[in-house]
Amino acid sequence: MDFAYFDNAATTRVDPRVAEAMLPFLTERYGNASEPHSMGVDAREALEAARSAIAGFIGARPEELVFTGCGTESDNLAIKGMARRLKKKGRHIIVSMVEHPAVFETAKHLEREEGFDVTYLPVDREGFVSPAAVDEAIRKDTTLVSVMHANNEIGTIEPVAEIGAICRERGVLFHTDAVQTLCKVPIDVEAMGIDLLAGSAHKVYGPKGVGLLYVRKGLHPEPVLHGGGHEGGVRSGTENVAGIVGFARAVELARDSFEEETARYRHLRDRLIDGVLTGIPHTFLNGPRGDRRLPHNAHFGVRYIEGESLLLRLDAEGFEVSTGSACSSGDLEPSRTLLAIGLRHEEAHGSVRVTLGRWSTEAQAERFVEVLPKVVGQLRAMSPLYSEAKARGEV
Ligand code: PLP
Repeated sequence: MDFAYFDNAATTRVDPRVAEAMLPFLTERYGNASEPHSMGVDAREALEAARSAIAGFIGARPEELVFTGCGTESDNLAIKGMARRLKKKGRHIIVSMVEHPAVFETAKHLEREEGFDVTYLPVDREGFVSPAAVDEAIRKDTTLVSVMHANNEIGTIEPVAEIGAICRERGVLFHTDAVQTLCKVPIDVEAMGIDLLAGSAHKVYGPKGVGLLYVRKGLHPEPVLHGGGHEGGVRSGTENVAGIVGFARAVELARDSFEEETARYRHLRDRLIDGVLTGIPHTFLNGPRGDRRLPHNAHFGVRYIEGESLLLRLDAEGFEVSTGSACSSGDLEPSRTLLAIGLRHEEAHGSVRVTLGRWSTEAQAERFVEVLPKVVGQLRAMSPLYSEAKARGEV
């Protein structure tokens, strides 16, 4: 059976070319980049070359990039770091309701434990934050707005350039979580008015355990980790040189095939969307269609079934996907994002996310649109929700 990994928003395979670039920095060129001897200098040079390459890709200056341990750390550093730094100026921050927990729980922490006031912005049916709502929410004591570049569940690409322009005009900082968009959607921190931006290597065919934070020149987030003052004093801890070199190689590979790769994702994504919506009754798409959706993301609501059972049945058929309810991770609450776009609990539970990657093929997408109706049919045949809907004459 052909195996299809369709969970690339969760993590990606390390591209063999990335692993190859990393290997010498694990085995031979393993110096500590803070040391002045030759091995240290070699590591420092590799580190700075990687920094320049990634900075260039997002329109930043090398000295504006801070390497961290993951996207979660970057979000924490941006939000806690700036909120705490500017707390004398004001204690109000704004985030959207559909942020990843790395942002949402950080905002909650500041609210519960540190006396900050947080406004949580709603989204519309497709998951969009309204720039006008951001403008309205900004107060005299607001210091920071955080709206993600694209949603990790339903793939909505937020109007970050408009939000960035509003923040700039109103004199507040703008942070965006670009963990899902880096290498998938063009990013230009200057043109988009972004002050802080988080990214993560393992979403872009790089290794796990490496993140980045873009910090606009002149901003000084309070460190979350204290220590030897690495990364311009913002993030102490010996740099993961091999991982960072791998991150840069991953970005370089994405840059070289950007147009072609994103066009291919879009084509496969739209094939999946059309195939599922026309092939299976009582299904719907979460998030928008077209260019305002992540090119590799399709997210379906499938009525009258549980997402977890669908995930397990698809796994048995050789497809790795994700579900919108977090039951599989031991949490019975349905996804906050799905509730925020107005789904009812039972609708949120019956959802499936398919995220394509570099090695996804047309044949896999075709097989998926063949297999899914069969699996959904079998699950509905056993589903009390479906028999109840039948009794009500709904189906
Ligand atoms: N932000 C978004 C939008 C994500 O999708 C993820 C990972 O799923 C993160 C942040 C966290 O990144 P990391 O896994 O590198 O901590």
